Amino acid sequence: MSRSAHPAGPRHADVLPEGHYSAPADDLNALDPKVWAHTVGRDADGVVTVGGIAVTQLAEEYGTPAYILDEADFRDRARAWRTAFGNDADVFYAGKAFLSRAVVRWLHEEGLNLDVCSGGELVTALSAGMPAERIAFHGNNKSPEEIERAVRAGVGRIVLDSFQEIVRVAHIAQSLGMRQRVQIRITVGVEAHTHEFIATAHEDQKFGIPLAGGQAAEAVRRALQLDGLEVIGIHSHIGSQIFDMSGFEVAAHRVVGLLRDIRDEHGVELPEIDLGGGLGIAYTSDDDPREPHEIAKALTEIVTRECEGARLRTPRISVEPGRAIVGPTAFTLYEVGTVKPLDGLRTYVSVDGGMSDNIRTALYDAEYSVALASRTSDAEPMLVRVVGKHCESGDIVVKDAFLPGDLAPGDLIAVPATGAYCRSMASNYNHVLRPPVVAVRDGAARVIVRRETEDDLLRLDVG
Ligand SMILES: *Cc1c(COP(=O)(O)O)cnc(C)c1O
Repeated sequence: MSRSAHPAGPRHADVLPEGHYSAPADDLNALDPKVWAHTVGRDADGVVTVGGIAVTQLAEEYGTPAYILDEADFRDRARAWRTAFGNDADVFYAGKAFLSRAVVRWLHEEGLNLDVCSGGELVTALSAGMPAERIAFHGNNKSPEEIERAVRAGVGRIVLDSFQEIVRVAHIAQSLGMRQRVQIRITVGVEAHTHEFIATAHEDQKFGIPLAGGQAAEAVRRALQLDGLEVIGIHSHIGSQIFDMSGFEVAAHRVVGLLRDIRDEHGVELPEIDLGGGLGIAYTSDDDPREPHEIAKALTEIVTRECEGARLRTPRISVEPGRAIVGPTAFTLYEVGTVKPLDGLRTYVSVDGGMSDNIRTALYDAEYSVALASRTSDAEPMLVRVVGKHCESGDIVVKDAFLPGDLAPGDLIAVPATGAYCRSMASNYNHVLRPPVVAVRDGAARVIVRRETEDDLLRLDVG
């Protein structure tokens, strides 16, 4: 159907209200492969399938809401990153995006390393058999207990985030008779977010030690003197949901500048540089992320060129994608509870989850897309806002999108690209139970994180 055939508008409205949205897609039943996991499609009845299983069957078996994760897609993306960077670089999956023991095993099997930033993430990684030397420990306020646990376990690196932590980690390692490999996280004054980056951002944030004013150089100076530490490199993470590589270019230039100063002052060439994560994914059809091999090529060229300019040996590069690996691999499956048209505005579609399973829309004004999943429809598109069941008017899952005008209670709808920062940021607000994560692969489904129960809630409430 051509676009002009649609009177692009919501039911009961002649004009579209203000909002950030494009015209409805030509075919609302189509599933843009950019935003959906690799094995997602529709079966002969028009039902969305993933890994060969219909979502109607998944809903019946596991209930809604549920995060449905395409295991084959996860492994494909992890492997693509690993292959793109090759054996001279390391890919650390950022566990905070979504971590479970199944995910840890997949990462291990696909040859990736893992970033953790709390004792809880560390214990999850270790309990699923990730070798400690392949784990990096991050965070701006690791407790002494967490540090001791990480050092004892033998984590491959701890990323130091403050002057106090430099001393703290050195002291703990030394008291255990150990020498801990560390990177020092610096802020280079580059802030990247989606399509723009700022090369002169204020280093006004809680993470890292500012390069400006010589603080980062001073941190390296102190760390190099401490017996408990082996300084292996410099770490920089510039933002999130980044599409433009020029922010990394400026960051790499500044990090390599510091490596050069360290060489000149101390006569040591630090062997590693970590450029962080933050690579963007497609949440809607308007986003155009880059492939891992393009990113690997760009980053490697940037670092190599900068090092040649500074006459340094090119250090071993590492990167830390979280969202770019897990984000596109999952969608959230909801059941529609109510459909409420507001004249001249839009139609509010209430689902059985909300901000407790996806806080990103409320927190970051994030954009998502949505599709009718339990059937197809030829009805005219209507402008909708998909909202949750929480007692909060900001409880929005998808701010502006189009769904077929015959949408009704009982329909299943799916929100793609919810693999990252949805389950991991999920809450119990309103004592709503956190949804399960169901992994599908080759026609089989299994729960990798089970649905929370009322017993789980009551167990923590000790009266
Ligand atoms: C959050 C974070 C990442 C991962 O970011 P994504 O946007 O998920 O790729 C990587 N490294 C550090 C230090 C982070 O804080």
